[in-house]
Amino acid sequence: MARYCESVCRICRRENQKLFLKGDRCYTEKCSFERRGYPPGQHGQGRIKFSEYGLQLREKQKIKRLYGLLEDQFRLTFERAERMKGVTGNNLVSLLERRLDNVAYRLGFASSRTEARQLVRHCHFLVNGKSVNIPSYTVRKGDTVEIREKSKKVVRIQAALEGLKRREVPQWLEIDPAQFRGKIRDLPSREDVTAPMEERLIVELYSK
Ligand code: SF4
Repeated sequence: MARYCESVCRICRRENQKLFLKGDRCYTEKCSFERRGYPPGQHGQGRIKFSEYGLQLREKQKIKRLYGLLEDQFRLTFERAERMKGVTGNNLVSLLERRLDNVAYRLGFASSRTEARQLVRHCHFLVNGKSVNIPSYTVRKGDTVEIREKSKKVVRIQAALEGLKRREVPQWLEIDPAQFRGKIRDLPSREDVTAPMEERLIVELYSK
């Protein structure tokens, strides 16, 4: 399967904001964006002026990489959002947030979405009591997401839960760290997603 191989810290620097793609390191002084907060490359420190298309493209790339999707997966998610009732941009954000790998990360079972995706693939999670190993699985209101009994001793899951103090669990989710269990209290509204995103630009880009 294709995957993104470049240094993920370059993505933050390219997008000019911290995207918290590397887990614990993002909260330390080792964060590359803290040390070199300008775009990578020879001309990174020069002035960069984007066209309207350039802005739309950058926003799409940013959100796609924030959730760790490849182009085709992102496009399919957008098309699904378009087919849903309501505002396409809001639907897109909601679908991205409801991915099982993102939910596992948001609940604190992993220190980054990349780690969450790997844990899901390695069958560490149960959704409503059944093993699910599909990172793109879309959770629904009322679902429970929990760590499989024999995975509760996995050191990186325990470490990630410990690191949850540094982040907030969103309102639409509920976590019981002692039971290694989370619940989808509600579907995420646009206001629940505080990461800086301008999904309108993506809708404009794909509408061309
Ligand atoms: Fe981004 Fe984290 Fe790397 Fe900092 S450490 S540049 S926040 S991925």
